[in-house]
Amino acid sequence: MLRSLSWKLTLAFLLVALTATLLLAAVIRLTSAGQLDRLIIEQRRNELQAQLVNYYQANGSWAGVQLYLAQLRGGLRLREQTNRPPVGRRERYELFGLADADGNVIIPLPGEYLPGARVPPGVLARGEPVVVDGQTVGVILTAGLPPGLNPEETAYLQRTTAALVLAGIGAVIVALLVGVWLARTLTRPLRALTAAAHRIAGGDLEQVVTVQSADEIGELAAAFNRMSREVARANQARKQMTADVAHELRTPLTVIGGYIESMRDGVLEATPERLGVIYSEIERLQRLVGDLRTLSQADTGELKLEVQPVSPAELLQQVQAAFAHQAAQKGVALSVEAERALPAFGADEIRLMQVLGNLVANALRYTPAGGQIVLGAIASSDRHVSLTVRDTGPGIAPEDLPFIFDRFYRADKARATENGESGLGLAIAKAIVEAHGGTLTVDSTLGQGSTFVIQLPQR
Ligand code: ADP
Repeated sequence: MLRSLSWKLTLAFLLVALTATLLLAAVIRLTSAGQLDRLIIEQRRNELQAQLVNYYQANGSWAGVQLYLAQLRGGLRLREQTNRPPVGRRERYELFGLADADGNVIIPLPGEYLPGARVPPGVLARGEPVVVDGQTVGVILTAGLPPGLNPEETAYLQRTTAALVLAGIGAVIVALLVGVWLARTLTRPLRALTAAAHRIAGGDLEQVVTVQSADEIGELAAAFNRMSREVARANQARKQMTADVAHELRTPLTVIGGYIESMRDGVLEATPERLGVIYSEIERLQRLVGDLRTLSQADTGELKLEVQPVSPAELLQQVQAAFAHQAAQKGVALSVEAERALPAFGADEIRLMQVLGNLVANALRYTPAGGQIVLGAIASSDRHVSLTVRDTGPGIAPEDLPFIFDRFYRADKARATENGESGLGLAIAKAIVEAHGGTLTVDSTLGQGSTFVIQLPQR
């Protein structure tokens, strides 16, 4: 429990509240006590100043002033007798001394200026002048020590302390409440995420955690949901792939097995045609295994590329030459639209021919007679070369578009294996282009045709 986030957060809040209250108490105590002292000194000095001015105006000199003040204070002390300041504090009337205008001490300040001494001019300048008829006739000297506090002042300080203690208790209660509340709202989504993570570990991959907050925890929950979706999707793809591979292997193996069994049992004779059928099925299996190997190499980053300078225009011309006969037989026009001046780029020419060959074979398969296939090349401004294969075939339905690069995906499931297409062609093409650091995308409109775009970096 002590290690839980709620506990730590609450404790942190409590600590902040307590520290703040203590600091505030210290500051208030220091400043208010100091200010009180200054205020008291000032008040008493003003009192004394008025008395001194009166005395001088009446007598024209300082002679006998000490006696006069002592008499005055005698009354004062009688009044204060019950509330004498604590021992060790200077008594109030000893707070001030008096010097005449020349600095001769008239009323001594015990320990500082004794009777008959002279006050240095610097100290005299800092003293409070006693002015009579525009003339400075004396200077009040102030002792360094603060005065004691009278009962009202002590009471004031006690009241402030009590208020501070109350404020401190209030702050602690508020800090506890806010801390507990915040800790709960913070940890609730975290607990939900932990529970969901445990469920994923237990095999239930698709988890959705609902977190309302738009803060970092909300972001974490969104990222978690996305991750969970992706993991579930990848897992589904893996299962699908295994099923698809098993399915692809079954047909040729059934054909081969059936023929061989019949021949072994003497039911069928081993004619060259029958052996030919068996051989073409074996070839199909070899192609499938080869394709799967290429894909697994691409997956593990082991696809070896023999990179060399490739001229886009020449590459397209080669592809056109390779498919010219097939296109002519089908009645489809196959042309190249590429500037000769396009700069060469670094790529594995054989692998790239494989990609383009696959795209053109698809285009030929789906484009009806009278249609058109155009191979294009343009240099994009951002140091990329784009190779395009555009056909005027039936196009690809929007619902199929996101999946056509997936392994074993065929838009038209019925006509699949008859023609020997495995549904791996585009997946391999995409893997090879990506191994080059490029992208393979498609733009297709139903009824108008498709354009496959290979974008490669100009290395
Ligand atoms: P396949 O071996 O079945 O051709 P691909 O991976 O090459 O597998 O293609 C996947 C699917 O994408 C095809 O089954 C087809 O439905 C669709 N497709 C690919 N190229 C074209 C095209 N040029 N025109 C229309 N559909 C296409």
